[in-house]
Amino acid sequence: MFDAQINNLKNNSHLNAIVHDLSNDPVFLDKTDGILSGKSIAIKENIHLKGIGLSCASKILQNYKSIYNATVVERIKKAGGAILATTNMDEFAMGSSSEHTIHGVVKNPHDITRVAGGSSGGSAVAVASGMVDLALGSDTGGSVRQPSAFCGIYGLKPTYGRISRFGLVSYASSFDQIGIFSNNVKDMSNLFESISGNDEKDSTSALEKVKPYLFNEKKYKIGLPEEYWGKGIDPEMRKILDKFIAKLKSDGHDVKSISMPKTEYSIATYYILTTAEASSNLARFDGVQYGHRENADNPIDMTIFTRNFGFGDEVKRRILLGTFVLSSGYYDAYFEKAQKMRRLIQKDFKNAFEEFDILLTPTVPTPPFKIGEKMDDPLTMYLSDIYTVPMSLAGVPALNLPIGETKSKLPVCIQAVGDFFNENELFNFAELCN
Ligand code: GLN
Repeated sequence: MFDAQINNLKNNSHLNAIVHDLSNDPVFLDKTDGILSGKSIAIKENIHLKGIGLSCASKILQNYKSIYNATVVERIKKAGGAILATTNMDEFAMGSSSEHTIHGVVKNPHDITRVAGGSSGGSAVAVASGMVDLALGSDTGGSVRQPSAFCGIYGLKPTYGRISRFGLVSYASSFDQIGIFSNNVKDMSNLFESISGNDEKDSTSALEKVKPYLFNEKKYKIGLPEEYWGKGIDPEMRKILDKFIAKLKSDGHDVKSISMPKTEYSIATYYILTTAEASSNLARFDGVQYGHRENADNPIDMTIFTRNFGFGDEVKRRILLGTFVLSSGYYDAYFEKAQKMRRLIQKDFKNAFEEFDILLTPTVPTPPFKIGEKMDDPLTMYLSDIYTVPMSLAGVPALNLPIGETKSKLPVCIQAVGDFFNENELFNFAELCN
């Protein structure tokens, strides 16, 4: 079983997508009668898989082994899927390129001089290069959609609360969602159905029922938010995107533009709120409870040395930013203001879905960039998330789907955004476009 995938796993180690290759003894191979039976799955290395190392690509957790299974892992087991590998990522899921990692920079299978995207770059590459049928990642501001766009596959960020996060290492808890990578819609909807739904171990998981997905031929009311379709999109990509939209119109879908005026504040709002939450979530890595410890002759030095040694530069930058925006005197000016703006951004989406079934936007502004290109410039790195963070601020589901490629054979994708808990509408649209 899984001969082709195991071959691809073994032959593609130069892509640095995999942290733990479990293919010699896949986890849960024994159950063969579920909706996922016969499917091989990889999971991002920030999701707990009992007995297997969980480093989150960080020195601070380098020697940590998980002691329990995440709810998604238990549900994969119940549905008969087999876990073949854990995947590389940006440290603690902070990044857009999978370059901030102790396991080596993840490479794009379409051009190994380019990044795979991040932070779930390893999961995207594992699916795009046929090492597994499906993979899980986490998406806080685009970490499933952006790497799936860079690798030319399907990538879903579900509605906030749709999938239990019990066993996902937290980055920014009011944003984090587990998401799915696949090569086709059917596999994705099956994995989605298997793992979503309420979980008593995660109080933020939604009660909303998960309905099975069934394809239906329909004409869509599609909104194109004009703030996403301005300058700044790579011209070659733009042509392919425009052609795709023109085809939708000629197929009889009702396509109109719409304004979502608060979009321009998304990046600033996102990086204030997520760093604030991260600074608090990462306080638990203190040399006492988990992972690495640097010894010193007093507890304060021990904590300082441990965190200084254990965290990489990007993680430190975020902890500092987050601590700053939460500090007294700056709390009102930054954190509270950003929370208000988040509400207004969400309102833009709610208004849009009174009129439209789905919204379409580019997923990324450019094809995958070169390895090293943005490493010394965090701001331009942050700007590569410009089209994915608004949905995370609002909590709505969004799906990246492949629609073509550039002359140099780099993938071109589009992002379909749905109303709360309407992932099935996104699957349906993606299948219709196939
Ligand atoms: N690139 C974004 C960030 O660094 C998104 C990361 C994510 O979704 N985990 O915050």
